[in-house]
Amino acid sequence: MAMKKTAIHPLEEMGKLENPARFRFEEVSCYYCGEKACSYFLTGEDDLTGKEGNFLYVQCVSCGMVYQNPRLPLDQIKEFYDSEYIAHRKKKDWGILTPLYEWAMSKHDRDKDKLIRRYLQPGPDTRLLDVGCAVGTFLLHMQDKYNCAISGVDFKDGLSYPGFDRIRFYEGLFYEQPIPENSCDLVTMWHFLEHDYDPNRSLEMARRVMKKDGLLVIEVPRLDSLTFRLFGRKWPGVQAPQHTVLYSKKSFLAMMEKHGFEVVEYLPWGAFPPYFYIFTGTYFKLFGKGLNLNRIIFPYFLGQFLLTPVLWFHKVLNLSMQTVVCRVK
Ligand SMILES: [Zn+2]
Repeated sequence: MAMKKTAIHPLEEMGKLENPARFRFEEVSCYYCGEKACSYFLTGEDDLTGKEGNFLYVQCVSCGMVYQNPRLPLDQIKEFYDSEYIAHRKKKDWGILTPLYEWAMSKHDRDKDKLIRRYLQPGPDTRLLDVGCAVGTFLLHMQDKYNCAISGVDFKDGLSYPGFDRIRFYEGLFYEQPIPENSCDLVTMWHFLEHDYDPNRSLEMARRVMKKDGLLVIEVPRLDSLTFRLFGRKWPGVQAPQHTVLYSKKSFLAMMEKHGFEVVEYLPWGAFPPYFYIFTGTYFKLFGKGLNLNRIIFPYFLGQFLLTPVLWFHKVLNLSMQTVVCRVK
């Protein structure tokens, strides 16, 4: 398998793909090692929303990191994060399935809580910062349950979310926020880093705002996982163009090492439901892009029920996610 891959010119390669004329692409170099030379990896689309565009992922010839190159500039990526974006979606009425939907959403927050309690018992003295906090349900859960001091960072669309005023909220890019140094006991990044345009600056920022004995918990999709092998370019973890980097275990850990973090534990799973990747990956493979949540919600829960015995073993099956728990060295 150690075949030497051909280096490509990303912008030239991009010209061969079909895209709206308004898109302005910018070339980037490897986020880990800075190398410019890269080979073709895959062409991805926004399968989740079905928006138009074809996006190129390349592999660094030097360190093997897989990243999107070229990418859209920040001002153009914003249109892919409109109010339809799933992490920000706060629909209330799913008819007869409403309680099941709400249970699934709150289960996600409970699973984050559970994961964290392997390493730390949260309490009133815990200062928690959630980077990429979206509508803030995880933070509110942690305050309701443990009375943690909660703050969050994200971009916001001007909508109001229930309970959001209880969060010390910073709007915009994480590393540009006036968050005090040495102030956080726990920094969480749930599916933030793979969206980040500058993961190096974000990790540096995380190190600065963490207390010396603080914890950093980061979850991202895992490229070298079973669901990627099954779905390839239709893998939900591609989520182009929002995902800037597709982290393998190796490149994920390398980034932690690069920024002076000691990895307390690496988990081949996370709080995000792996079933979501199994379901949506199958859907994209069979029906193409554009997922209508209204139409699929029943088959979604039915499939989850049928796959329950498999999902019991998700922590050892390397299905889709990975999490690192770090301290400052
Ligand atoms: Zn590299």
